[in-house]
Amino acid sequence: MTSVDPTVNRADIEVRNPADGRVVGTVPNDSPDIVAAKVRALRAAQPEWEALGPKGRKVWMLRYQDWLIDNAGRIADVVQAETSKPRMDASIEGPAAADIFGFYARRAERFMADRHPTPHSPAVFPKRLAVVYRPYPVVGVITPWNFPFGMPALDIPPALAAGAAVLLKPSEVTPLSGVLLVQGWKEIGAPPVLEVTTGAGGTGAAVVDSVDYVQFTGSTHTGRIIAQRAGELLKPCSLELGGKDAAIVLADADLDRAAHGIAWGGMFNSGQVCISVERVYVEAPVYDDFLAKLTRNVEELRQGQDGDSFRFDVGALATPAQLAVVKRHVDEAVAAGATVVTGGRPTGVGNFFAPTVLVDVDHSMSCIREETFGPTLPVIKVADEAEAIRLANDSEFGLSATVWSGNKTRAARVARQLEVGAVNINDAFSNLFNFTLPMGGWKTSGIGTRFGGAAAVHKYCRSQAITTPRIPTTQKELLWYPYSRRKALFTLGILRSVTSRGLRKFGVSPRGRQ
Ligand code: ADP
Repeated sequence: MTSVDPTVNRADIEVRNPADGRVVGTVPNDSPDIVAAKVRALRAAQPEWEALGPKGRKVWMLRYQDWLIDNAGRIADVVQAETSKPRMDASIEGPAAADIFGFYARRAERFMADRHPTPHSPAVFPKRLAVVYRPYPVVGVITPWNFPFGMPALDIPPALAAGAAVLLKPSEVTPLSGVLLVQGWKEIGAPPVLEVTTGAGGTGAAVVDSVDYVQFTGSTHTGRIIAQRAGELLKPCSLELGGKDAAIVLADADLDRAAHGIAWGGMFNSGQVCISVERVYVEAPVYDDFLAKLTRNVEELRQGQDGDSFRFDVGALATPAQLAVVKRHVDEAVAAGATVVTGGRPTGVGNFFAPTVLVDVDHSMSCIREETFGPTLPVIKVADEAEAIRLANDSEFGLSATVWSGNKTRAARVARQLEVGAVNINDAFSNLFNFTLPMGGWKTSGIGTRFGGAAAVHKYCRSQAITTPRIPTTQKELLWYPYSRRKALFTLGILRSVTSRGLRKFGVSPRGRQ
């Protein structure tokens, strides 16, 4: 057996454009020792960052927000080079990141402020109470390839705002955007509390082993492995995993809006979004009309590699493996009796798969049971609202859903019966752009949430309880030694009076004196 020197990087990783296979960059495949060294450096720099306080950190985060806006074109170029997204999709990632950095920079002071809860009982009133938020020193952020710049930017700002240092481990498929993100932080001369480590799963595993908190976004499969390891190490983790989002189109919906929204929600980023619409349930009276409109919208999509011309709507899938999953789901559905209304196959160029609408599908098929993460929309006719809810909930996943209806009360009633972390009514993805809402998956779609206003900052903190005497202290507290019968009667009498109600306060119970 040959032994591997853990201090030496393994072979570099080549990054390829998925539309034409061209190599667009290389990054090191960091070894566990290199990860550990980066974490040590972050750990050394973090106390000073924490000591700056939210106001001091805000200065750097707002400067970085400016960098993000000034470099939006450069970011879109790198995102596009390694994903081959249409220019429009690639152009959203920088401004979205700026929005999140700005939000947490400005709100951190309020979110991180000590809380002073009111004592729950007169017995403990003599204490002034404080809850103090202290960050985990080093947070590891492990991200997938679908939004290589935007995805890390969802999780890094609240961690930095909390006073933590952050080690980013971007996907080995699209690491260049993560490298650029950290380069930007260095370009503004900010304190060295944001670093990147590149590599594959082994590098990610080393991050889990070395940091104090793990924020992971990716597949349910890898999420399980990380949760197991985090469990062994008793290390907190937050997991954003797969989804199989249902869209429910009710008979009273604005069908034009529903057909446009679902086409976009299913095809945006070639369907490679954890909250993509992946299955559609339509009430019988409007099924034919809706299907015709949706099919037309999907057929009209322009697919290709557009440089900076904004000419195309849908790009390629990120990897040949992803293309194979999408193809398998469609082929298995067709073999089991499904009908392809439009699309249904790879285009033959790069990793492109034609935007697809499927009908005659049922819940035994992989295109309904498994996450597809591709440009496919299986559509199912349902008798009524109850059947739509039952089928939408018949999934191991529970990330989010959309409900399309002209009646807000009805839509809200349906939303509250869905077993998912978020429901967007008459829209797709809108919860993702609202940072004051929690974003998290139920069932196998995740553990914990991102965003949620203050919750996003607090999750990167350990809360510390501090009690301080509110009134001048005497030599001894009532409960301190020595014990005696007299002291017990007095103390237990007070305790009884504050822990009971009515006559019991005075030692009288309904069945007589105790
Ligand atoms: P995807 O299918 O979206 O690539 P993965 O869950 O495989 O999803 O990967 C998401 C991220 O998790 C990537 O950055 C990848 O390198 C990383 N990763 C893969 N395996 C592990 C692991 N065992 N521990 C930590 N991170 C991992």
